[in-house]
Amino acid sequence: EAFLANIERANAALNAYVVVTDDKARDMAKASDEKLAKGEGGALEGIPLGIKDLFATKGIHTQACSHILDGFQPPYESTVTSNLWADGAVMLGKLNMDEFAMGSSNETSYYGNVINPWRKKGSNTDLVPGGSSGGSAAAVAGRLCMGATATDTGGSIRQPAAFTGTVGIKPTYGRCSRWGIVAFASSLDQAGPIAHTVRDSAILLKSMASVDARDTTSVDIAVPDYEAAIGQSVKGLKIGIPREYQVDGMPDEINALWQQGIDWLRTAGAEIVEISLPHTKYALPAYYIVAPAEASSNLARYDGVRYGLRVPGKDIVDMYENTRAAGFGEEVKRRILIGTYVLSAGYYDAYYLKAQKVRTLIKRDFDLAWANGVDAILTPATPNAAFAPGEITDPVQMYLNDIFTVTVNMAGLPGISVPAGLNSEGLPLGLQLIGKPFDEATLFKVGQVIE
Ligand code: GLN
Repeated sequence: EAFLANIERANAALNAYVVVTDDKARDMAKASDEKLAKGEGGALEGIPLGIKDLFATKGIHTQACSHILDGFQPPYESTVTSNLWADGAVMLGKLNMDEFAMGSSNETSYYGNVINPWRKKGSNTDLVPGGSSGGSAAAVAGRLCMGATATDTGGSIRQPAAFTGTVGIKPTYGRCSRWGIVAFASSLDQAGPIAHTVRDSAILLKSMASVDARDTTSVDIAVPDYEAAIGQSVKGLKIGIPREYQVDGMPDEINALWQQGIDWLRTAGAEIVEISLPHTKYALPAYYIVAPAEASSNLARYDGVRYGLRVPGKDIVDMYENTRAAGFGEEVKRRILIGTYVLSAGYYDAYYLKAQKVRTLIKRDFDLAWANGVDAILTPATPNAAFAPGEITDPVQMYLNDIFTVTVNMAGLPGISVPAGLNSEGLPLGLQLIGKPFDEATLFKVGQVIE
């Protein structure tokens, strides 16, 4: 009831939820109360969560915040949300996001942009919450849920977490099942939680993660008790500081924050080593080839026949064209155009194949760091703090927000963004920790030294 009251009070201003499932929330909470009264219940019994609109929720609005999925209510439930409900979590509603998870500011949503609960000191100007999981991050930061599901293809969990002073972890590719999550770029997409603390995110990830026969890229490695990592010492851990993340024009406050993080970890007993990840500078351009290529293929299914919106035409091809013209927003269309271009005969080798090779080189950079005994890598999460809606209009400028996060998806590694302090204007900033495959536990262990 407390969270529903907060939603009632603040959602009109924040626009974090696109649907509030209050009746369902009350039914689920009642069932949890009954279980708890009998001394039963799962790890998340009665915990109210918000769900990003990218997750299929049976019989409930699931539109990836796109017009083209108007009215779509899936007849199935995603594996990740099924896992959460099986552990007793309560669903508060569906959270706003960039259309099809394409964006870094939540401004591409068909349902309007989300407002960050944070303001600059002494200012009342609205700020973006980051994206694409902007609704998830704003709902957690604004106390409109205790935790939220999110997804990360190129930073969409970690960047909004950094912009809102929350914790966001993108686990290793394969850790969570992608079944029932609307696909953006299938080789990069992963689900993860956004939460208030490192401990909360550890508890949520444990529940979300599972191997799943319906997603053959999910991996059959036992899910450890991540919470056990909280409070463990980081003494002797080797933390790599990649020199290539020192990018031109990075604001002093980001450098200062990074240095502060290094000092905290050193004081806690970690060994700090400088490392090189030489292919870092190619990650962003390669990502913006691979991600649109896969998106153009995944989005081919929205044709006015199978789901949602249909705009009639004089014949079936005309109907496809009318539906896709009206149903997709500008950024989604841009991605489809880039994607089909880089996959087309004559350009495939020059762009897509080249980007895939670059991807292998990026992964090898990390492999070498791990082979040299590095346990985790510390970087800034974003090159800047939250900005105002409408402030960034050039798409390439917007893509630069992902400069520190996309490498992690390209290499399939786990990455966590942890709130590390406020900038001179009073806005939250995050530090990112990157880990070895399936070693999320180390990220939780090191992350709680920073938070
Ligand atoms: N901002 C990136 C993009 O627009 C990342 C999105 C994501 O991680 N879903 O592609």
